[in-house]
Amino acid sequence: MITVECPCGTGERYDVCCGRLHRGAAQAVTAEELMRSRYAAYAVGDLDHVWRTWHPGSRPDTIEPDPALIWSGLEVVDVVGGGPDDERGEVEFVASFTRHGQAGQRRERSVFVRRRGRWVYEWGDTNL
Ligand SMILES: [Zn+2]
Repeated sequence: MITVECPCGTGERYDVCCGRLHRGAAQAVTAEELMRSRYAAYAVGDLDHVWRTWHPGSRPDTIEPDPALIWSGLEVVDVVGGGPDDERGEVEFVASFTRHGQAGQRRERSVFVRRRGRWVYEWGDTNL
């Protein structure tokens, strides 16, 4: 059990924030919540959560871990839709990382859709 602050940046403890979603104790209510949980899953190495929340029509067969990559921060910069009553949502974010000691950022606008009542990640645009 990780009791430190959640990597997704809400300031909540991991186990009451994205940890709930990672261990299947809760489902994301909004697309942003799912996006944060997917970032946090990359950060803590729970690639199974990343895979499970990826639309079956677009997800890779496996997700290879990159041990050199250390995720260091998340900033959500725009949210369109993705609310409790929506079927689709877009979340744009900037994720910071270091890799082999070199700092970098990934900016992506992710598209989420509701599938069988649950939010899933469909695809992301990184040409922003
Ligand atoms: Zn979180």
